[in-house]
Amino acid sequence: MSAQPSALEPNRELVAYCGLYCGACRSYLKGRCQGCHKNDKASWCKVRSCCREHSFSSCADCKEHVDPASCKHFNNLFAKLFGVVFNSDRKACIVHIREKGIDEHAAFMAQRRLQSFPRRGRAALR
Ligand code: SF4
Ligand code: SF4
Repeated sequence: MSAQPSALEPNRELVAYCGLYCGACRSYLKGRCQGCHKNDKASWCKVRSCCREHSFSSCADCKEHVDPASCKHFNNLFAKLFGVVFNSDRKACIVHIREKGIDEHAAFMAQRRLQSFPRRGRAALR
């Protein structure tokens, strides 16, 4: 039987603007990245720029796009490809932040060492 991976320390500052949990990312854990909020090299990202411009913690604060899939920044071609290649559902992360709040989202992801919800798999994660 394989051992359960140990939980991470939750940190709301490590919830990326798009809902990913940077605290469980290999680059963050290896000290190669400080996470989305502090990573100024990620200025290419329109989601990050938009949230910073509006002083949002994440797209969960956005009233213009209640469904982030309707936003051309959030749901661009790159994001769609990223979702398929990495089996990642960032929209489910944003919905979870709206439902539970950012602290509970961070705690949920850190406990399970999850960077994102898997596509069509959120229901299995209890
Ligand atoms: S896609 Fe953008 S908002 Fe999401 S983690 Fe990367 S830089 Fe941050
Ligand atoms: S959903 Fe789109 S418009 Fe709303 S904060 Fe996110 S990137 Fe900006």
